[in-house]
Formats: sequence, C-alpha cells, structure tokens
Amino acid sequence: MNFRAFLIKYAEIGIKGKNRYLFEDALMKQIRRALRRIEGNFKVTKEDGRIYVMAEDDDFDEEDVYSALQHVFGIQGICPMLQVEDEGWEKLCETVVSYMKETYGEEENYSFKVQARRARKNYPLNSNEICYKMGEAILNEVPNVHVDVHKPDVMLHIEIRQKINIYSKTVKGPGGMPIGTNGKAMLLLSGGIDSPVAGYMIAKRGVVIDAVYFHAPPYTSERAKQKVIDLAREVAAFSGPINLHIVNFTDIQLAIYEKCPHDELTIIMRRYMMKIAQDLAEKTGCLALITGESIGQVASQTMQSMAVTNEVCTMPVYRPLVGFDKQDIVEISQQIGTFETSILPYEDCCTIFVAKHPVTKPYLKIIKRSEQNLNGVIEELYETAINTVETVWCESEA
Ligand code: ATP
Ligand code: MG
Repeated sequence: MNFRAFLIKYAEIGIKGKNRYLFEDALMKQIRRALRRIEGNFKVTKEDGRIYVMAEDDDFDEEDVYSALQHVFGIQGICPMLQVEDEGWEKLCETVVSYMKETYGEEENYSFKVQARRARKNYPLNSNEICYKMGEAILNEVPNVHVDVHKPDVMLHIEIRQKINIYSKTVKGPGGMPIGTNGKAMLLLSGGIDSPVAGYMIAKRGVVIDAVYFHAPPYTSERAKQKVIDLAREVAAFSGPINLHIVNFTDIQLAIYEKCPHDELTIIMRRYMMKIAQDLAEKTGCLALITGESIGQVASQTMQSMAVTNEVCTMPVYRPLVGFDKQDIVEISQQIGTFETSILPYEDCCTIFVAKHPVTKPYLKIIKRSEQNLNGVIEELYETAINTVETVWCESEA
C-alpha cells in the first residue's frame, strides 16, 4: 500500500501548556526543512496533539520520507497512515478491512487489537464500541487472524477526528527535542571522531550549534580544513546549518612552542582554544561550549588536565561524551554517518605540536607560571586570531 499521509509522534513529556506550541512549531519547522531536501511536495499541518505530513501527489519515495524524518530531533515515530473522510460506518469497515489485507496479506496468520480514539464526540459510536465492532468486522472478513488484547502482533489505531486516521505501523524516529527549543552552543570541532558526536548529542537536546575549528596552516593542510567543513555538514544533517568559525591558530601555537615547556604545550594550547572559543561564543550568542572530551582518553583528558583547561572558562562546558568508552563513541559516529570522514588521515593541529611525554597531572599554578612567558607577545596574537576568523556556512548536502 502506498501511503500519502504520515502521522508524526513526539514525546509529550515536559511540553504541557505554553511550551507545547513552541515545541510543535519548532518541530514543524524542522520537518519542513528536512522534507525540502527530498523529492516531492508535502504539507505539514497540526491538529490538536497531532502533526501530519501529507504528500500532495504521488511523486515521492516513501523511504525518502522516513530517512529525511529520521534526521529530525523531536520525532519519536513516523506512522504511515490512511486518512479518510467520514462516509459512514459501513464504508469505514470496508476501508479498514482492505487496509489490513493490503498491509499484512490476505491469508496471513497474526493477532491484532483495535485501539480507537474518538476526538469528535458527536460520532455515533464511543471508543469501546468502535474497538469491538471493528474487531468483529475484521474477524469476519480477514481469514486466519485473531484478537489478542495483551500482546497483539498488530495494533490497529483508529482515530475519529474531523477526518478518520487509520494506522498500525511505526518507523522509529531519532527522539530528542526539536532544534530551536533550546539556546545555542559553540562546538569545538576538530577532525576527530569524538567532537562531531558530541555536537550531535547536544543538538539532539534542541540546541542550535555553532562550531569553531583551530587551524594551523601550513602545519595543517587545506585538506584537513576541508575535512572539518565536511564533518560540520554531516552534523548539520541533524542540527540544521552550522556556522563554522575557522581560527588561524598557528602563531599562537608557535609562540607557546617557543616560550613554554614542551611537556605543557598541549595543556596551554587547550587553554587558549577554550578562551578563544568562549570569546567567539559570547559574540555569537552561545550559552555554552561543547567538546568531545572523555575522561582519561588521552593525556589532555585526565581529570587533572580537564580541570586546568576548564579553569579559563566562565561559561558552562558541555562534555556529553565524558563517561563514554571510545567504542561507544565510534558506534554513534557510524550511526550518524561521520565516522568515515573522521578517520581520513589528515593531520591535526594538536598532534603536530605535541610533546613526547606530555604532563598528565598538570598543576594550575605551574601552568599559569609558564603562561607568563607569553606576556607581551600573546596579546597581539590573540587579537589577530580573533579578528581574522573565517566563517563558513555549513549546510547538509545529503
Ligand atoms: P576528537 O576526536 O574530537 O578530535 P580527540 O580524542 O582527538 O577528540 P583531543 O584532540 O584531545 O581529543 O581534543 C579534545 C577536544 O578538544 C575535541 O573533542 C574537540 O572538542 C576539541 N578540539 C581539539 N582539537 C581541536 C581543533 N583543532 N579545533 C577545534 N576543537 C578542537
Ligand atoms: Mg582530535
């Protein structure tokens, strides 16, 4: 059966009262954005507590609709649905019987249950009567099926509204909250596996994402930069367009390399990254930073290192992967489609200036003392880095 209507299911927790229409409107906006990327003409509408996607003609592929909507946070499920006019009970029974036969086969052996909802109270039958009578009609017309009210194979929903909705299948959505229902945050996006996943996870909570990448030409190549742009585009398939701010970090890194103990390079460099990211975040209206850090993954992610790095931040820093094992992160990156790009072998600015034996338990006092060696040089470099930021608008190409 070809469906032209889809019921969008979303979690209703926490979206009572005034928040509800904000949530629904944001969700509809993101649904429209996702559907613009596929072939077909669609209408997105809402009717108390329900969002519908309706194709205006048959020029579309049902699978495209699912894959587009599986990128829209806030959607719990997508139900292909038959929506019909109310033309009387007999006609409804006929429609439902042929729906069951077409969807599940004429001779198949399966159990079902009818779940009815009557939003229009003047309908002549109440919900229980609809369930009972429709169950009977199906048993009479479809051979080999039986009713199981506890664990049915098929849960058939019949909703009496202005029109009548008939559905029984759900394609899983990504969950989360619609983009735009929370604030904006600045993702520190490198070319690695972790940070795209971290951005995805925070975007999933409805947060708009801006990103910053620290580029160190000529030590890092144009290809390394392009890889980060590609990753931003891949995350944007879920989060919506991302403004990627590219900071030229070379001179700051060289200054640190020249003036500070080499075993402290990474930690001092990371403190500067966080500072710059925070400045950009404040300028662009972001309320938090996001990183892909996870406890103990590398020397710069021991608890001591993270404490010292964090000390420069006044803004909250979200580290959604902090308790994740690498393998778990890899699995998410494969699911969301960033893994293949992340493992391309281009150099990373952190790896070029990295010491053989970086400190793993830095002391804030000592690090601050080393940073004093930068006084008189770093201020101008910092200004220049901030003032020469290149911003690239990254939109999904999928
Ligand atoms: P990732 O896989 O995200 O690159 P990683 O395991 O390589 O992480 P680090 O290199 O220590 O870890 O970086 C930790 C975090 O710092 C990254 O997840 C990212 O958020 C940020 N970061 C590191 N390098 C850069 C960079 N060049 N530009 C922007 N952010 C960076
Ligand atoms: Mg990295």
